[in-house]
Amino acid sequence: MRRKLAAGNWKMNGTTTALSELDALQDAARGAAEVLICPPATLVAAASAQSGKVAIGGQDCHSAASGAHTGDVSAQMLKDAGATYVILGHSERRADHSESDALVAYKTQAAWAVGLTAIVCVGETLDEREGGKTLDVVGRQLAASLPDDVTGANTVIAYEPVWAIGTGKVPTTDQIAEVHSFMRSTLIQRFGNDTAQAIRLLYGGSVKASNATEIFAVADVDGALVGGASITASDFAPIVAAL
Ligand code: PGA
Repeated sequence: MRRKLAAGNWKMNGTTTALSELDALQDAARGAAEVLICPPATLVAAASAQSGKVAIGGQDCHSAASGAHTGDVSAQMLKDAGATYVILGHSERRADHSESDALVAYKTQAAWAVGLTAIVCVGETLDEREGGKTLDVVGRQLAASLPDDVTGANTVIAYEPVWAIGTGKVPTTDQIAEVHSFMRSTLIQRFGNDTAQAIRLLYGGSVKASNATEIFAVADVDGALVGGASITASDFAPIVAAL
């Protein structure tokens, strides 16, 4: 009942020439799974204009609706440019811009206010994993980054262990299963069974064609948030096909 989602995060990569990758993804996007590309903000409008069956999202938005925030992009601007999703609280934003869980919660509300679906990212660092704190960290991030009015339509959660992002290191399927099952039960406790069962839980961190099938077979994994392997259609299409 949860529609699988293959989400690509191009991060700070891509100029207008990269938009041809969207054309090449059209065939992959004809299947049952939903396909999303989050290009840099400069490409959201052009990407939306030609995205066809591929949904387009932003990689961040400001928590305020508008105002004196030089260099920032509002949720309304993303929506106006054709986005339907926005990634929030990615570990690179938490690290590069000191984003707190509380700020992520405000941004999530800003996204909801204009009808964007928020993809809220959580995940532990290597030190936290090795210190046995993974579930504490993920639990704390979920508690503080998610506002109360979560639904399966307005929110997707991405579990992205920081140590797996861009490193080629991937948790074992048991480790992914442990965190995803923990997230599902945490959501059930807070939001009730119906809401919690409707929320899609993505895994992210070094997903590629060669490991996608194994990861997607893990219980409570409803798709992936993919960085490096989403930039070209030739890398991303096989991941979409594995869903
Ligand atoms: P990666 O990035 O697939 O390049 O590891 C994942 C992410 O940051 O969402």
